[in-house]
Amino acid sequence: MMSGQMPILILKEGTRREQGKDAQRANIEAAKSIADSIRTTLGPKGMDKMLVDSIGDIVISNDGATILKEMDVDHPTAKMIVEVAKSQDSSVGDGTTTAVILAGEFLKQAETLLDQGVHSTVIANGYRLAMNEAKKIMDSVAKSSSDDKTLRNIAITALSGKNTGTSYEFLSDLVVKAVNAVAEEKNGKIVVDHSNIKVDKKNGGNVTDTQLIEGLVIDKERVHPKMPVIVKNAKIALIDSALEIKKTEIEAKVQITDPSKIQDFLGQESETFKSMVEKIKKSGANVVLCQKGIEDLAQHYFAKDGIYAVRRVKKSDMEKLAKATGGKIITNLDDLSKDVLGKAEKVEEKKIGDDRMTFITGCANPKAVNILIRGATEHVVSEIERSLNDAIRVVAITKEDGKYLYGGGAIEAELALKLRNYANTVGGREQLAIEAFSKALEIIPRTLSENAGMDPINTLIKLKSEHEKGKQSAGISVTENTVGDMASAGVLDPIRVKKHALESAVEVATMILRIDDVIASKKSSASESPGGGAGGMGGMGGGMGGMPPY
Ligand code: ADP
Ligand code: MG
Repeated sequence: MMSGQMPILILKEGTRREQGKDAQRANIEAAKSIADSIRTTLGPKGMDKMLVDSIGDIVISNDGATILKEMDVDHPTAKMIVEVAKSQDSSVGDGTTTAVILAGEFLKQAETLLDQGVHSTVIANGYRLAMNEAKKIMDSVAKSSSDDKTLRNIAITALSGKNTGTSYEFLSDLVVKAVNAVAEEKNGKIVVDHSNIKVDKKNGGNVTDTQLIEGLVIDKERVHPKMPVIVKNAKIALIDSALEIKKTEIEAKVQITDPSKIQDFLGQESETFKSMVEKIKKSGANVVLCQKGIEDLAQHYFAKDGIYAVRRVKKSDMEKLAKATGGKIITNLDDLSKDVLGKAEKVEEKKIGDDRMTFITGCANPKAVNILIRGATEHVVSEIERSLNDAIRVVAITKEDGKYLYGGGAIEAELALKLRNYANTVGGREQLAIEAFSKALEIIPRTLSENAGMDPINTLIKLKSEHEKGKQSAGISVTENTVGDMASAGVLDPIRVKKHALESAVEVATMILRIDDVIASKKSSASESPGGGAGGMGGMGGGMGGMPPY
């Protein structure tokens, strides 16, 4: 197992260690098993996963990043794969399953080469050459457009596999509208700051009751029923301190011995609130959005003065409100003036389901919109929220880049074809690695066809022959269960998503290939829970977690 010479022991006896081929194989197996576990979710006909945690909470999802995040993964290389999904999700918002499946397949193909005696460094080099060539090919075959029809198809492609039921077209239109509303031109370039699109959910109602609000919605009602329901031409004070009389840290007791003093005491309190409200009123504010509490007495004075007040607004909402209304968040009421007030055409309380929410529309800065998701249950609205966030990201980057590729495995089939030709020009052992890379890409159309219940072998043969004939848009048509035209089907993926998925898959695969020694380090052995996890450590014999502490 270990090489001929005597090992020099620099590690304490009993330290768990895997070396050379064993370590490499164990790592590859772990990565492959993670990839296999989410393969069935790929594409519009993919299945969902139900994740149940130790206290019985469940998450039902079709989203690779979400599934992997919720999975209790123990093996170190499996964790690296999970990181790929997270990074894909945070940088482009989609293509997480694709990235993980590709990483697994790159490693699987590498295994065959390792068996044939090709060194892992050669494989890693070949993979990197192939990736760079693949990115060039993507640039050359990408289509240019970011018109609404393209954006809509991009959104539909991103949403179609999710649990959005039949409402994905409706939701896609909403997403395109939202992205268009917040898109800005900066130095001749289109920029979409997707954080300007706030997404909230409220269960109840139907998915088609989901609405786009040109402005912001906060999940709070006005604090007093005598306050106005609508304030037009709103001047908004944004306050992040409590409109309460300061409670002392240590318990304080006010002893009033003389009954006539009670009135004095209450009078004082009332004066304090009166002056608070007075300061706010003087600034010209007719709406108060407060991050903390508002005492009853203050509520009463606000109501008397016709001021619309909301308390306990989330900090993140306060920041968005400041940005949208052009107001400034203040802590000290003495800093209140006309200049720090936010502006909106209308602040209104509306009933959504059983709850009342505050709608702030016609904001000073119109580049802020809010999508309010509705749906029968918490699980439904949560999965729609995840799906919409994906769709917003892909539409936003397509709006920025103005470039897309054909989905449904079309781009992967095209890359595989072109990379095979490229491999011939490279020669040597790297050629083998580039061919393996090209073969690995076919996992995407193969998985899409398998998940749609098609015969993967015949479908792949047909797909390859279409691409050889020059039909770049040929892909897996899941509606017709055959190879079809992705251009007319409108199955489009942003180029940035595809490039990023490929890059991170190659990066993690080559990193895993280069590891030939896995040593339990001090820190991890102390922090791991004893016993390790199920399905975890592969060849590591019982798991690092089971080691005695040092
Ligand atoms: P990921 O997490 O990688 O985005 P998805 O489950 O969203 O995984 O599946 C994405 C893949 O499904 C892409 O390759 C995309 O082109 C493909 N796809 C989406 N819609 C369709 C469709 N209508 N027909 C064929 N393929 C589709
Ligand atoms: Mg997707």
